[in-house]
This record gives sequence, C-alpha cells and structure tokens, in this order.
Amino acid sequence: MKVTPALLACLATAVVFTAAGVAAPPAEPPTGPVAEAEPDDVAASDTAASDPAAPDAVEPAEPELARAEPMAVDSEPEPRRVYERSSDLPDGGPFPERGNGTWHVVPGTFAEAGSGSALSYTVEVEDGVQVDEHAFAGFVQQTLADPRGWISAGFALRRVDSGVPDFRVRLTSQATARERCGFQIPVDVSCRDGGAVDLSAARWARGAVAYLGDLDGYRRYVVNHEVGHALGQGHVPCAEHGAPAPVMMQQTFSTSNDEINLITAGSAQGGVVPNDGKVCAPNPWPFPG
Ligand SMILES: [Zn+2]
Repeated sequence: MKVTPALLACLATAVVFTAAGVAAPPAEPPTGPVAEAEPDDVAASDTAASDPAAPDAVEPAEPELARAEPMAVDSEPEPRRVYERSSDLPDGGPFPERGNGTWHVVPGTFAEAGSGSALSYTVEVEDGVQVDEHAFAGFVQQTLADPRGWISAGFALRRVDSGVPDFRVRLTSQATARERCGFQIPVDVSCRDGGAVDLSAARWARGAVAYLGDLDGYRRYVVNHEVGHALGQGHVPCAEHGAPAPVMMQQTFSTSNDEINLITAGSAQGGVVPNDGKVCAPNPWPFPG
C-alpha cells in the first residue's frame, strides 16, 4: 500500500490526553490523489468522568446541638469534555457540512507584502457555504501579510481577485474537504493539493484541541501551515521539548510527537514522527519571534 505524503498532512494539536488507550485507526489504503490530507473529526466520546460529589453521611447530630450540618452542595464546575484524542474535533457551533464542490473568488486585493519571490493568491469560498466571506478573506490576508509569517522567509505575497493566481486559499465544506484531503485517518483536516489550499470549514469553526480557547490562534496556524505547503514546506516534528511548535508540525493532530505517531500509526505510511516524548507548545507562526 502506498500513501501519498499528503495523507498525513496537517494537523496540529497538542494536548495532554487525559484518557489512555487511544486505539490506532484501522489502516486503509488511500484512495485519492490528494497531496496532503489531514484527517479530523473523530467521533467525540465523552469520557468525562462523572464525579458526583456524594455527600458523606451526616453523622448523627448530637441531640442538643441539632445543628443542621449542611449537605455539601456540589459547586464544582460542569465537567468539561475530555477528548479521547487531541485530533478530535472540538465541541462548538454548527459549520458548513456540504458545499457544491466549486469555489468563487472573494473580491478584494491587497498590496504585495514582503520582498523576494513574488507570488499571488486568491481567497475563495466554496459555493453553497454560508460564511462572512469578507471576514474570512480579511483574516487570511492579514495572516499572510504578517511579519511573523512567510513573508519573512523570502516571499512577497500579493492578494489578487482576477487572473490565475499562484495559489488559492479556499474555505471548503467539511464533506468536500474530506473528499479532497482524505479521511483514511478519520480526522477532519485541511490540505494543499497543487495550488489549491483547502481549509476545512469544520476546523475553521471549531479549531483543534491543542488550541482550545484560541480559535484565532488555530486559524492563523492552519493558514500558515497549509500555505507553507504551497510554498514548498514539508512536515517537521517537535524538535525541542517545551519550545513553540514548528508551524509545519501537524498541530491539528497534536503538538506531542508521541500523539502524532500514535494517530498516524494506523495509516499505511505508519507513524510519521519520532516517538521521543517531545511536546511543543501550540504556535501558529513560522517566525514567532
Ligand atoms: Zn501539513
């Protein structure tokens, strides 16, 4: 069985698994010519341990002191979901599940940022996907023009809305992203195939476990990671325990090398990072400074 390198594309999430025993997904041969797939979306299993505070039996009150020993009121916060895997799709609101499989360009241009190899890009949204398109395009544009991004690696990036761009950054429905990026590893992921960068709407709406509470951070990450592929970058593992994760680490999966190894072990390609115990901190930027 051969698997395109893309199948294991981009995930990123580093989370300390609270539940042990993550079962490796079944190995299945890839079926599509996808350059990079990032699986996402494992059925969430709510394994949150219920810990009803069972009040201790009240000792028999001394008759004369009939003090009412208050039963302990359970004031613990609501149990939070415990994610079985860091690659699970976080809980959250609805997102576009299905689109038409075609995309349109969001109008708008932006002056070239950076200096060096000049590349143009469009921002696009899949037809049928309901989203604030200008907000999406603005986020992508801002991310790619940021000095912490790829423009500091010798690229000059310019947003266009006509002609043939060098690459396209597209918001793509969950179903279409699964078709394009692969779902052999049952995780919703984004991917890059040729000049098309498909960002899964499921991840755009929900983020990743490694970025819980920081959706903007995750979005920065996934734009930079997938565009990084379009610029010729490949995956790298966490190199220094505790350091910011490389943007080309599959943070949608995890920021732990061991976890990524486990999640990808079931693929025909096998574990793609060393099982060396290194865990990085989530980081969305190529050059975090
Ligand atoms: Zn990737």
